[in-house]
Amino acid sequence: MSARIIDGRAAAAAVRAEVADGVAAFTAVHGRAPGLVGIQVGDDPASEIYQANKARQAEECGMHSRRITLPADTTQAQLDDIIDDLNADDDVDGMLVQLPVPDQLSEPLIAARIHPDKDVDGFGPGNMGRLMRGEPGNVPCTPAGVMRLLDDAGVALEGARAVVVGRSLIVGKPQAMLLLDRHCTVTIAHSRTRDLPGLCRTADVLVAAVGRPEMIRGDWIAPGAAVIDVGINRTDDGLRGDVAFDEAVEVAGCITPVPGGVGPMTIAYLLANTLLAARRRTADRSLDKG
Ligand code: NDP
Repeated sequence: MSARIIDGRAAAAAVRAEVADGVAAFTAVHGRAPGLVGIQVGDDPASEIYQANKARQAEECGMHSRRITLPADTTQAQLDDIIDDLNADDDVDGMLVQLPVPDQLSEPLIAARIHPDKDVDGFGPGNMGRLMRGEPGNVPCTPAGVMRLLDDAGVALEGARAVVVGRSLIVGKPQAMLLLDRHCTVTIAHSRTRDLPGLCRTADVLVAAVGRPEMIRGDWIAPGAAVIDVGINRTDDGLRGDVAFDEAVEVAGCITPVPGGVGPMTIAYLLANTLLAARRRTADRSLDKG
């Protein structure tokens, strides 16, 4: 039997359409569009592409998007000043600093400097604390997108055994909290985990966020499991996930492909977070769908 393929491109298009509707309603009420600012330090080509994509998609949803590109030798003090100005700018609802940043800059200092209400990546201590406490806040985009894919696929989460492979701040940890919040029994696995194949085989929901091409094999997967592959690995044979898709698709109940699975959801949820941030900042609950 072959697994149902979860179409992340279609899901992301649906999220963007919802955001565009919300942006139009927000703009009609407030006389301005939600504003998103992307800061890039240096001219790393991959960062350039990500930033351009984020700005383009924000504009396509009707948002006001601004890109700030700073020289590679920008100091922490200079960056702090720019972040402070944006924190104080009422027309800016969300901002992000494209990672990675050059060595003289500190990612933790940056994450802490951005006001939590404008931290639409959700990486800062304020939003991580809110997530841990189960309070409303900006949830990191990739794990938020994964939850949407699971819901769209109709995966029953309450009481399910979930295994998240990877414990990074941007994917693994917040993913585990979101699954826990939905009443999964969650195990977080990492590079020191013993018998990872055996652990993965216990999962009703398996989320792979490792960064190792096709590490998770078909015989690590329980028949009928929901398999979400966050991995994006560039190999000589093209883009590969963390899951050996050709094997896994024969065993899983549903599975995300790479590309076309989780990837497109990340920017879609950045836009959704920006709209939500704009609504929260203006205390505009009337537009909340729930
Ligand atoms: P990190 O490198 O920050 O974290 C990787 C995690 O995998 C670590 O917790 C590490 O464990 C664990 N790990 C590494 N090797 C093994 C192993 N052999 N067995 C078990 N666990 C292992 O990566 P990210 O979380 O940032 O990203 C993970 C993947 O997701 C990457 O391919 C990345 O490109 C992709 N990604 C995709 C996004 C999207 O939009 N779809 C967004 C973000 C990331 P330990 O902590 O012990 O070192």
